[in-house]
Amino acid sequence: MVQTVLGPVPVDELGITLMHEHLLIGWPGWEYDAAAPRASLSELVTICTERMLEIKALGVRTLVDPCPMDLGRDVELMARVSQASGVHIVCATGLYKEDQGSPAYFKFRARFADVTSEIRDAFVLELTEGIGSSGVKPGLIKAATGAHQVTPYEEMALRAAAQAACATGVPITTHTEEGTMGREQLDIFAAEGVDLRHVVIGHSCGSADLRYHVELLDRGCLLGFDRFGLEILQPDRLRLAALIGLLGVGFAKQIVLSHDSVWCWRGRPLPLPETMLPHWKPTHLFTNILPRLRDAGVSEDKIETMLVANPRRFFS
Ligand SMILES: [Zn+2]
Repeated sequence: MVQTVLGPVPVDELGITLMHEHLLIGWPGWEYDAAAPRASLSELVTICTERMLEIKALGVRTLVDPCPMDLGRDVELMARVSQASGVHIVCATGLYKEDQGSPAYFKFRARFADVTSEIRDAFVLELTEGIGSSGVKPGLIKAATGAHQVTPYEEMALRAAAQAACATGVPITTHTEEGTMGREQLDIFAAEGVDLRHVVIGHSCGSADLRYHVELLDRGCLLGFDRFGLEILQPDRLRLAALIGLLGVGFAKQIVLSHDSVWCWRGRPLPLPETMLPHWKPTHLFTNILPRLRDAGVSEDKIETMLVANPRRFFS
């Protein structure tokens, strides 16, 4: 069984699963932008349900929204959208990377004591009792690092995530930046005793370095090729080149696919013209990327493995 925002669901019912998308993101501090427009919950539900029905029509049955605690996570929104669309949603507990998350509270306490166990207890409480008074339980744990280093704060949050995973059996998904720090994340998880087959090193398509990918894959984890369409960070051609190469040498069972799309923003919308990111939407995989994989000779069997079997095994 996997915990969804509407309760436990047998893993066999997950079907085609997008492993990393966001209904709503709010960078910490959004709440102080007093002059920003405020969408009501029902407006957000309408926008997200429309999107959800678009991808449901393309076959998607489950969506994982690994929004950590500190990026405007809204599980009531997720529950209402899941109810309205009939698509399963799995949400997360966990903390974001230091430079764009909300590290002040635990960082301050960490000056005086080791607070790893406090962070672990917060994750475990959400996993076992639910988030706040919502009754919604997370189905996975999010952990995150910035580019080229793991800060002491991030290491604490990663260790806490690993300890919570060991205590509850819930899997971990991560954020990495510029295709770096996947090794260091795995080192921390392994040192804490996590079964790496239940870890996704997210945003691994931010690197096109096959040595990096193979080194991680050889340790048994899954890699997220989960930012298709986010071409201001890495062109899809490079994501595809690396993906097709890895599929060609037998790694289909360890790769999951997604976009890391964001459907709504708390505060003001992203100040970027949509023309800069024309493909950053959750339909892109089905309309543009899968056809390119098929053109490159990738079998339906491998595509199904990445979209259905791997998420199912990850949550099992
Ligand atoms: Zn994300």
